Amino acid sequence: MPKVRLATAWLDGCSGCHMSFLDLDERLIALADQVDLVYSPLVDTKEFPPGVDVALVEGAVSSEEDERRIRLIRDRTHTLVSLGDCAVTANVPSLRNPLGVDAIMHRAYIENVSLQPQIPQESLPALLPRVRPVHAVVTVDVFIPGCPPSADTIHFALSELLAGRLPDFGSSVRFG
Ligand code: SF4
Repeated sequence: MPKVRLATAWLDGCSGCHMSFLDLDERLIALADQVDLVYSPLVDTKEFPPGVDVALVEGAVSSEEDERRIRLIRDRTHTLVSLGDCAVTANVPSLRNPLGVDAIMHRAYIENVSLQPQIPQESLPALLPRVRPVHAVVTVDVFIPGCPPSADTIHFALSELLAGRLPDFGSSVRFG
């Protein structure tokens, strides 16, 4: 039986959801028998490949680069999973929404800097006017809330997906 092609991606998040994924610990070994991790911050693949079965996406859509990536991920993925509250609701990254991009850039690169304060003109992905959850940009198939979701919750969701079912969290699963 061919292995499931699994990807994980990191948009505007803190990596805590990926840390929770790594908290699967020894269950990762069993998972490795069932999946090929074809793209992730945890592996060296540079470009999101076509033909991905399941993609776990951490983080909100905050920049033009995030938006380009999530649209590519959607195009190349069968089952797209919003992993964690930043992906599901925009959560912490969206705290900047009421302030506007200019105020945020000024605060980060001028007010809080003592040496050569200046707003970078290159090598910085352009921020979108508003931070959005993933489902506001592309269709999402599964939502896993929590900040971060617990390893048990991620394991349950992956187990169900690998069994060919959409996870039904009901009330028995403890989030994050
Ligand atoms: Fe970090 Fe929480 Fe956002 Fe996950 S949901 S990326 S743990 S802030």
